Amino acid sequence: MITIKNLNIPGYEEVIFCQDDEAGLKAIIAIHDTTLGPAVGGTRMLPYGTEDEALADVLRLSRAMTYKAAAAGLDFGGGKAVIIGDARRDKSEKLLRAFGRFVESFDGRFLTAEDVGTSPEDMRVIGQETEYATCPPDIPEANWQTSFITAFGIFRGIQASVMEMYGSDSLSGIRIAIQGIGKVGDKLARILHAEGAKLTIADLDRSRLLAISKELGAAVVEPHEIYQVDTDILAPCALGGVLNDDIIPLLGCNIVAGAANNQLADERHAEELSKKGILYAPDYIINAGGLISTLYDIGECDRQTVIHRTAEIYDRLRVIFDIARLEKISTQVAADRMVEERIRQAKRDMAK
Ligand code: NAD
Repeated sequence: MITIKNLNIPGYEEVIFCQDDEAGLKAIIAIHDTTLGPAVGGTRMLPYGTEDEALADVLRLSRAMTYKAAAAGLDFGGGKAVIIGDARRDKSEKLLRAFGRFVESFDGRFLTAEDVGTSPEDMRVIGQETEYATCPPDIPEANWQTSFITAFGIFRGIQASVMEMYGSDSLSGIRIAIQGIGKVGDKLARILHAEGAKLTIADLDRSRLLAISKELGAAVVEPHEIYQVDTDILAPCALGGVLNDDIIPLLGCNIVAGAANNQLADERHAEELSKKGILYAPDYIINAGGLISTLYDIGECDRQTVIHRTAEIYDRLRVIFDIARLEKISTQVAADRMVEERIRQAKRDMAK
C-alpha cells in the first residue's frame, strides 16, 4: 500500500509524507520556498527515533536551504528530503526507486542530491525513476571535487574576514586554527598554507592529522584544545553546534570562519560573539561553494563560472560586514535580512 499525506505546515509551500509498504519506504519531502526557482536540497537517510524527529529535521534543513541558495545569488529555492531508516541496513534498490518516484511526483519543483546516508551511487539508482536526482560528475581531479570548491569559498570568506578585522586581506603570517581535517579542512589547510598562514590543526583521526602536520608544518592540538588556541581565526570544519554557551567563553580567536553547517547552537549566539568582539562569518554564506558547484553538475554553467561565483563569497561577506557594522546588528542577522530582502523583492517583481 502507498500512503501520501500532505502535512500542511504553515510557512512551508509543501510538506509531503510518503509511505510505500512494499518498498519499505517512509520519507518526507519539504519544499520551503520556491520564489527564486525550484527547491534544491539533499536527501538524508537516518534512523530517526520518531516521525516527528524526521519532520523537525526536514523542516529545519529545507528552510536553511532557501537561505543558502538565495544568499549565494542562485535562482533556486530551498527543500530537503529525509528517508527514515538505517542506511546500512534498510537501503535497497526497491526503496531507492520508490523514493525516486516520490521525487518525480513533484514534477521538477524539487531537485535532490546526496547527503548524509546517501551516496552518488544511490542518486544513480534514484535517477532511474526521476530526472530530478543529481550526482556530481565523476571527475578525478582533486581541484574539481565539491569539497575543494567549498574550501576555496571558505578561503575567500577568510580573506574577507581578515580584511574587515585587520584592514588587509593578505593571509601571510595570519594564525588559523582548523577544527577537522576532513574533505574540506584538508583542502582548506593546503590553500591557507600556500598563502603563508600559520596553521594549528585538530582532528579525531590522529594518523591523518600527523601526516598533514608534517607536510604543512602545522602545529597540532588535542580536539578539545582547539577552541582556546590563541589565534586570529578559528575555522570549524567538523561539527555543527560548536558556537554555544560552553564554548564561546573559551574562544581564543578574533574571527570564526569555517565550513561546518549550523555552527551556532542558537541564533542568540551570534549576538554573544559580537559582544565578545569576535567577527563571525555566517556559515551558510561562507560554505556555499558546494551548492554553487551543483550549477555545473546540472549543466547550468561551466567550471570557470562556478569558481567565479564562489570567489564572490568575498564580496558578499564584505556587504554583510558593512551592514552589521553600520546597523549595529550581528552578522547573522545582517545575512538573514539580505536574503529575506532578495526573496521579498522577487515576490514583488512576480506580482507586477
Ligand atoms: P568530513 O567528514 O570529510 O570531515 C570532518 C572531519 O572532522 C573528519 O576528519 C573528522 O574526523 C573530524 N572531526 C569530527 N569531530 C571532530 C572533533 N570533535 N574535533 C576535531 N575534528 C573532528 O566532512 P567534510 O565534507 O570535510 O565537511 C566538514 C563540515 O563542512 C561538515 O559540517 C559539513 O556539513 C560542512 N560542509 C561540507 C561541504 C562539502 O562540500 N563537503 C559543503 C558545505 C558544508
